Amino acid sequence: MVHFTCDHCGKELCPDGDERRFILKIETYPARDPNELTEEDLEDDHMEAVSQLLRDLDDDALELEKPRQSLRYDLCEECHHKFVHDPLGKEISHKLSFSKN
Ligand SMILES: [Zn+2]
Repeated sequence: MVHFTCDHCGKELCPDGDERRFILKIETYPARDPNELTEEDLEDDHMEAVSQLLRDLDDDALELEKPRQSLRYDLCEECHHKFVHDPLGKEISHKLSFSKN
């Protein structure tokens, strides 16, 4: 029987049990705002500039392959619930910094 454990708390998640299993996928990659097409680019009749911009975007897309990170986790229902309410763990770090006082 295939069984999973929660990647956050380690709880066992067997398919026949009461625990529901949640998949968490995280994808990160560098933003590329400076090269993004704006409406101005498209309104002006600068076809050469726009096509150059599109070529630049293609080049960037190739360069960005490496820094792209794709992560996948299995979570139990409780950890999933915590994650969707505080994806970046901000609440936890706030509590820790307050407890120092
Ligand atoms: Zn868990």
